[in-house]
Amino acid sequence: MDYEEKRKNLVESLKNRDFLTKPDVIRAMLKVPRHKFLPKGAISSAYIDSPLSIGKGQTISAPHMNAMMCELLELAEGDKVLEIGTGSGYHAALCAELVAPKHSKIPGHVYTIERHQELADKAEESLINTGYGDIVTVIHGDGTLGYPEKAPYDKILVTASSPKKVPPPLKQQLKDQGILCIPAGSKEWGQDLYIISKIGKKFEFKRITGVRFVPLIGEWGFPE
Ligand code: SAM
Repeated sequence: MDYEEKRKNLVESLKNRDFLTKPDVIRAMLKVPRHKFLPKGAISSAYIDSPLSIGKGQTISAPHMNAMMCELLELAEGDKVLEIGTGSGYHAALCAELVAPKHSKIPGHVYTIERHQELADKAEESLINTGYGDIVTVIHGDGTLGYPEKAPYDKILVTASSPKKVPPPLKQQLKDQGILCIPAGSKEWGQDLYIISKIGKKFEFKRITGVRFVPLIGEWGFPE
């Protein structure tokens, strides 16, 4: 079976389990080649709904988590997105498909920050090879500080688990009416996924479900 066929089967199973409902997110998941963001040893498992090791003790999230987070963020053409935790670059590519689809009149942009230089370099290479190099900017650094250079953002996505106190720079760098999607809780177990909406100077928190992510390490995150 070729990769496209396997990807279609994965998308069907995510639809059947209600992780995928929005047509634009379904289109993005059908289009972005997850296998091109993985280390050689993991490629054969690319279209299994499971997190996979990408080196440096880190993982690429399971596809159902990518789908869920993209749907919750309500990513739209033209959005300026900040992602904390580039990892493999795959989720950033999905975001790119949603904010800057081919022939879009108002292409958006994705800024993504990774604390491991090696992963940031590899992700940048994968994003260029798959055609997302112009839409995604990879930054090496501590994402708990956000990226004030390009703030404010329509949407912020955090793909590592924060302590219960959400990093204040991320809340500050969100636009009015913007959405922040973040797992938060303890360093290992007992984390929850939240959607935080900014309305004027107020923040509305909505708990979505229990999750398990690698920890967010940094100034406003957990100590190493
Ligand atoms: N979104 C990624 C993908 O599509 O492959 C998966 C991300 S992985 C679950 C979480 C990533 O967050 C890891 O690569 C980890 O190194 C990174 N990370 C943890 N703390 C960070 C921080 N303060 N700033 C930037 N990246 C961080």
